[in-house]
Amino acid sequence: MNPLIDRLTHTAADDKLIEQLADAVLDRQTHIHPQPGSGEDLYCLNLTSWLGERMGPILVRLREAERRLAAADEEAAGMRSVLDLLSDDEPCSLGVRGTCMQHGWTQGTTCPHGRAQVLIGASDVPAEAVAR
Ligand SMILES: [Zn+2]
Repeated sequence: MNPLIDRLTHTAADDKLIEQLADAVLDRQTHIHPQPGSGEDLYCLNLTSWLGERMGPILVRLREAERRLAAADEEAAGMRSVLDLLSDDEPCSLGVRGTCMQHGWTQGTTCPHGRAQVLIGASDVPAEAVAR
């Protein structure tokens, strides 16, 4: 994590603020700017200031989202590790009507052992495509 962002104490931006910011960014991009030499673009400058004042809550929301993503990645890695231990790494052997002869799967859906091998990255071949 970024130590500067960690020092921010704002409340994370809510969806309404995100929407307002998106609206302001679009407005800044699309409004008619004054021609060169005709003075300052005060409307644009005001929008830019308004946006800048609200970046703290945005950065806090980003920080929280990144933390949740890192935690989810760690949790998924743990689940893949358990899945690797629980699943059979022998390839599926598909029979009639979607059954897997290797693992005794008769539900007519993708064999969970084959799905597990794809999820843990041991195979990139969907179970349905494994040789019969
Ligand atoms: Zn199988």
